[in-house]
Amino acid sequence: MNLLLPRHAYVHVPFCRHRCGYCDFTLVAGRDDLIDRYLVALGRELERLPGPLDVDTLYLGGGTPSHLRAVGIERLLAILRTRLVPGAGAEVTVEANPLDVTPALVATLQRAGVTRASLGGQSLDAATLRALDRDHAPDDVRRAAGVLLDAGFTVSLDVMTAAPGQTLAAVEADLDAASGLGVQHVSVYCLTWEKGTAFESQRAKGRLHPVEEPLERAMFEAAIDRLEAAGFEHYEVSNFARPGGRCRHNEAYWDCRPWEAFGPGAARFDGRTRITNHRSTTTWMARVLAGDDCSGDVDAMTDEDAARERLVVGLRRRGGVDRQAFRVASGFDLDALAGPAITTWIGRGLAVDDGARIRLNREGLLVSDALWADVLR
Ligand code: SF4
Repeated sequence: MNLLLPRHAYVHVPFCRHRCGYCDFTLVAGRDDLIDRYLVALGRELERLPGPLDVDTLYLGGGTPSHLRAVGIERLLAILRTRLVPGAGAEVTVEANPLDVTPALVATLQRAGVTRASLGGQSLDAATLRALDRDHAPDDVRRAAGVLLDAGFTVSLDVMTAAPGQTLAAVEADLDAASGLGVQHVSVYCLTWEKGTAFESQRAKGRLHPVEEPLERAMFEAAIDRLEAAGFEHYEVSNFARPGGRCRHNEAYWDCRPWEAFGPGAARFDGRTRITNHRSTTTWMARVLAGDDCSGDVDAMTDEDAARERLVVGLRRRGGVDRQAFRVASGFDLDALAGPAITTWIGRGLAVDDGARIRLNREGLLVSDALWADVLR
């Protein structure tokens, strides 16, 4: 397998105002005193690139990058420009909390060539936002989306379903409200109960109750129906886009193209090996600043493992996996690799095969997480 130079980069910004009760991401909340040191460490980690890297997509995720505010974002983007160079027409995304979207932040993003904002709205319903332990109100989401759209950004909105106590009607209203904002992209995630989170400990004590599985499924189906009816294309399990609004950065992940990544917990991929930086922000900073290796996990895949992973991420997309393209990209015959699993899925009414291409149907997408073990080793 030829390893190509990455043309995509991810930067993890691990700061949030507070940690939402369901969140187990790599971040520190209420530790703004670490921001200066983080920026210095980030500049140092970028030095592992041998020189400036031209990128087609650059994604600043977190955490909450917008928590750095206009001044911090300006510094961050200036540091990134020393090594990561978005070309003409590049997609540059910054994740933002609705409360952080101020005129100063918007002006900074415009000046710095940011093209896309991913808004962590989660809901446009006050009760759902409270149930999710979010620190913003529905009007903050409306205002932030409007300001960003008026400023010319492509805007993506995260919407969460299966919040404690949430009803199907509330989800439907949320989806209608989200598409009514005029955003070009919506990502719909079902709440997951992760070990070590405040939500999970409340659940264990019987104080919080997950939504029942049939209702969770109905919510996901409602998302597909409502957003497709509103003109969004359902192009990946969790992602919906108006024409031209797909996230090019995530498409690079799903194509298994190589990408670079910087910051605590950030995972990079060279087409064969995935290296994940140390997840602790303070350990990552200490190691980078001491000139030590800040890598945590190293997942070196065989060509066959990489092909199996390519199949899984490909099947998360509505377009599925083309046999010929898969053979060219991976060097493996799709049917030799996963024929029995595919036959089983088709027999269970979860996948369709038109001879050239295998794809999951709606039923398959709804249970897709349970299917991957049939393919991965
Ligand atoms: S704002 Fe996002 S990243 Fe930060 S704690 Fe909440 S869910 Fe996690």
